[in-house]
Amino acid sequence: MAGNPQVGVLALQGDFREHIAVLRGLGADAVPVRRPEELAQVDGLVIPGGESSVMDKLSRTFGLAQPLKDAIAGGLPVYGTCAGLIMLADRILDGIAGQQSLGGLDVAVRRNAFGSQLDSFETDLDIPVLGDVPVHAVFIRAPIVESVGANATALATVADGRVVAVEQGNLIGTSFHPEITGETRFHQYFLDKVRAASR
Ligand code: GLN
Repeated sequence: MAGNPQVGVLALQGDFREHIAVLRGLGADAVPVRRPEELAQVDGLVIPGGESSVMDKLSRTFGLAQPLKDAIAGGLPVYGTCAGLIMLADRILDGIAGQQSLGGLDVAVRRNAFGSQLDSFETDLDIPVLGDVPVHAVFIRAPIVESVGANATALATVADGRVVAVEQGNLIGTSFHPEITGETRFHQYFLDKVRAASR
């Protein structure tokens, strides 16, 4: 690939602007994706945080769900945060009636898993693939990865051992939101995959 990778951010709903800003700060050519023609142009995709049940409905309404599934199956690097992780999970627990995901990650993800007492919280996580400095993670009505299938790998756990970041081939998912804390290592890790995949 010549020049910067062209990276899309699914912009149906949620905090896509924050992801675009982080990706541009890292030198990527980041663009919003709302239509299949836009998806076809990108070398990688971020699915932002927001509300997965709404994102699911909008992606089906706008004819993006099947192209997204095809792109994931075809090896497109995709990074999902929070609602984006739910969209990438093969199995959703506590979804709304009829809620579907795109799938790709061999995991079961439970929505809103930290309970109403602990809607939002921040903590530092050790994430060995990103180096020695802990990642400051913000969780907002966050899902957890309740089970990790044989094809996926856990990248991070909270103190009680629950999994909050996973990877499988070109797919990455985090329960938390690096895009709002100034943390750029997950996006850099993702861009490395995008560059490797587009070579
Ligand atoms: N609770 C939301 C959902 O189910 C996710 C929240 C978020 O993305 N911050 O999609």
